[in-house]
Amino acid sequence: MSYSNSIIFGPIPSRRFGISLGVDLSPSSKQCNFDCLYCELEKAKTVDSMTTYPSVLDVIGAIKESFAKHPNIDVITVTANGEPTLYPKLDELITEIDNIKGKAKTLILSNGSTIYHDKTFETLLKFDTVKLSLDCVSSKCFKKLDRIHSGIDIEKMIDAMISFSQSTSNQFVLEVLFVKDLNDKEDEIKLLHETISQINPSRVDIGTIDRPPAYDVQPVPYETLEHVANTFAGINVNIAYKDRPKQTNSFNEEEILAMLKRRPLTEQDIENLFDESSQKILKKLVNNSKISVVDSGGVNFYKFC
Ligand code: SF4
Repeated sequence: MSYSNSIIFGPIPSRRFGISLGVDLSPSSKQCNFDCLYCELEKAKTVDSMTTYPSVLDVIGAIKESFAKHPNIDVITVTANGEPTLYPKLDELITEIDNIKGKAKTLILSNGSTIYHDKTFETLLKFDTVKLSLDCVSSKCFKKLDRIHSGIDIEKMIDAMISFSQSTSNQFVLEVLFVKDLNDKEDEIKLLHETISQINPSRVDIGTIDRPPAYDVQPVPYETLEHVANTFAGINVNIAYKDRPKQTNSFNEEEILAMLKRRPLTEQDIENLFDESSQKILKKLVNNSKISVVDSGGVNFYKFC
């Protein structure tokens, strides 16, 4: 089967990473060990390995072709119609991509389910940025929301995420997708906060459903995400929400410092929350080194020094 036309998607300009070239390791059908209620792909029976997939040669050939047409790619995003770490040649592939990527960075988007397998753990260490999902901590919530393949061990996943975070010197990002009446309950949010604090990733992206889901589930409102961000004290939280409501207010120096002591804010948070005079005060605090601006995987955070 020839896959070369379907392996690549983009390049797509991304606000966070620049020009991103997408690589789909399962272009012919969905192959995933989860069947998340919110998945934007069709419902599918879970699998624990890929049965049809392009060869490393095909994937590298397709990337080279795109590079020839688009020489300014900033990031190669490895993903799949399903779970990319089920691709059996992932280690060989990342080594080959590293040989041809030039200045481009590599990013993988995974559901995190295979990180406790030594081979996958070692392979993930080779990516410039690893973004893993973690929607729930309690096994009940995990099974209900992500509908995982039997045998996946959540405790092992979390332990491996903790050691991955300690082992990598690259960017490690977690993503939590909130679904109404599933993982938005206080108990689960508390568990997520405790666990994510232990994992200590560079950044956590929180969001909700914004495309038609595979099953009949609903997004949470923006206010829930804001509540979660405020609960996740001490963590770099990036709220990803389409058409975020603008709620600008005026803050004085003490109020700004107190807010940033509680949690770092992204540039987008500042645009949405701070009026013009507050933004000027913030700028002054940055100039006086009371606040620092830190890049975390392409997202700038304002942090209390
Ligand atoms: S892990 Fe991703 S691809 Fe797999 S079911 Fe969940 S959302 Fe869909």
